[in-house]
Amino acid sequence: MMGGTFDPIHHGHLVAASEVASAFQLDEVVFVPTGQPWQKDRAAVSAAEDRYLMTVIATAENPQFSVSRIDIDREGPTYTVDTLRDLRAQHPEADLFFITGADALAQILSWRNAEELFSLAHFIGCTRPGHTLSDAGLPAGGVSLVEVPALAISSTDCRLRVAKGEPVWYLVPDGVVRYIDKRALYLDAG
Ligand code: ATP
Ligand code: MG
Repeated sequence: MMGGTFDPIHHGHLVAASEVASAFQLDEVVFVPTGQPWQKDRAAVSAAEDRYLMTVIATAENPQFSVSRIDIDREGPTYTVDTLRDLRAQHPEADLFFITGADALAQILSWRNAEELFSLAHFIGCTRPGHTLSDAGLPAGGVSLVEVPALAISSTDCRLRVAKGEPVWYLVPDGVVRYIDKRALYLDAG
């Protein structure tokens, strides 16, 4: 599974998922857009339904990729441990891998219930531009690190570009560019 705010989903997310799926021979990757992400200090995260639909649009063509509503349909803020417990209940036989950026991983594993998290899934941290593995501060064991091709794309940059009238073509999938336009998202971002 790959969790994220996906506001919007971009090619960095998709390449990371594809690389990890290949490196670990995963059967599938389930993208899980967060509900209300409590760790984002940004006041306005786009509506969950918009983030969910952009994620569906971006992944629709890949038979290995799917999207789960598990976090957006749960009441209250999103905690990784709840996501993993729910996915575990839905797929009791599956080997779960939790894919995330190495930056986000260091935060997640500093939480109180890190021990339980390790019992629920194997954690995979992807490198991304501007974050080196050495300063990720990750505990040993239960975690793998994967170098993904450096794509200096972030959702923050995509939102700011839209607000400034700059293109996001080729940073996000074509269908997502059109969806952002259709729903007039990010016009007052930043
Ligand atoms: P924002 O700028 O709003 O924080 P983001 O681009 O970091 O957005 P998120 O939805 O927060 O996107 O990211 C979901 C996961 O994908 C996180 O674990 C993040 O570290 C990872 N990720 C984001 N961008 C990239 C990228 N370019 N390459 C690899 N991993 C990425
Ligand atoms: Mg982020």
